[in-house]
Amino acid sequence: MLHTVAAFDRMGEENAFAVLARATALAQGGKDVINLGIGQPDFKTPGHIVEAAIKALRDGHHGYTPATGILPLREAVARRTLATTGIEVSPESVMILPGGKPTMYAAIVMFGEPGAEILYPDPGFPIYRSMIEFTGAKPVPVPIREENGFAFSADETLALITPRTRLLILNSPANPTGGVTPRAEIERLVKGLERFPDVAIMSDEIYDVMTCDGEKHCSLLQFPQIRDRLIVLNGWSKTWAMTGWRMGWSIWPDRLYDKVRKLAVNCWSCVNAPSQYAGIAAIDGPQDEVDKMMAAFDRRRKVVVEGLNELPGVSCITPKGAFYAFPNVSKTGWKAKKLASALLEETGVALIGGPDFGVHGEGYIRLSYANSEENILRALERIGAFLERKTGSNA
Ligand code: PLP
Repeated sequence: MLHTVAAFDRMGEENAFAVLARATALAQGGKDVINLGIGQPDFKTPGHIVEAAIKALRDGHHGYTPATGILPLREAVARRTLATTGIEVSPESVMILPGGKPTMYAAIVMFGEPGAEILYPDPGFPIYRSMIEFTGAKPVPVPIREENGFAFSADETLALITPRTRLLILNSPANPTGGVTPRAEIERLVKGLERFPDVAIMSDEIYDVMTCDGEKHCSLLQFPQIRDRLIVLNGWSKTWAMTGWRMGWSIWPDRLYDKVRKLAVNCWSCVNAPSQYAGIAAIDGPQDEVDKMMAAFDRRRKVVVEGLNELPGVSCITPKGAFYAFPNVSKTGWKAKKLASALLEETGVALIGGPDFGVHGEGYIRLSYANSEENILRALERIGAFLERKTGSNA
């Protein structure tokens, strides 16, 4: 008998990976699968970024780098942060990690332990809750509501803080809803947080450039009164279509920086060197491919929302960011997960059931529009035909 620690049994999953595996298996078996389940851009990493990694390998960058990342990359992140937020950060507060997830892990294990409480968005990225459970801390969901345009509510968040609250996790633009929290609401939250100086904040801003309809991303970095307890998560995965490169960054307050550096030394030593050089090229190079990708997402968003609202029993508010729509399917008579699974098995359209993002996700499904307009239209047609046939009969 092997005795593993219970924390591993409490750890959750990201069901998007299970759906991807099932969709791939169905496709290999000959089914025509349209994948609207996966949260990664359907674009290739821009060529100049790939070339920078190849050059780094040819130039002999094969060894360890500093655990915090190479200085020119941290300087590039600081320049990019100034350009996108107007806020100066020191390269000494920038940490380079293998993807966005490791920042989540670092922040949650730094504050989570039995007896502690951590607030996180629900529906939200499933790894927040999973990692909170792993640490033994109590996960406290902050409901994210359709009637608020899937923005978080400052009042509702503040009301959930107790003397045991250690960390508050925020995410805007948000996965899985596409919600963007307006600046006024964030200002109210920050004002309220002044009453709770012992609560740390992790703001997941990985979709920061992916906003639309004139909605501007508001970074938590823009509030100096919380900088000494704020961790900002960001990375290359979404903006530059680099999910497989495993490249992320985060900005840390001085008093926490050495802890995350030590975690890196213990866990992964450093991010692979050629990817770090590619990361500099991504930030400093031309952004026209990024702009093209954003324009494509914007066109598809309109197609998706229009199409979804024509389906029987389905309604969908217009997402203001990221590349997800989160339609309300409660009037179809189906439970959301059952619907997502039936759609994959019977029509070959892969989507994720809302409950995979938390209890407040019941009644919704997540549709990622990281797929061609043509495929999105085909998928909507298949979903429509399925619902016409089945609505009401499988609740
Ligand atoms: N944060 C959010 C909100 C995400 O949606 C994702 C990925 O889907 C991540 C973080 C993780 O990104 P990465 O693939 O860089 O670890």
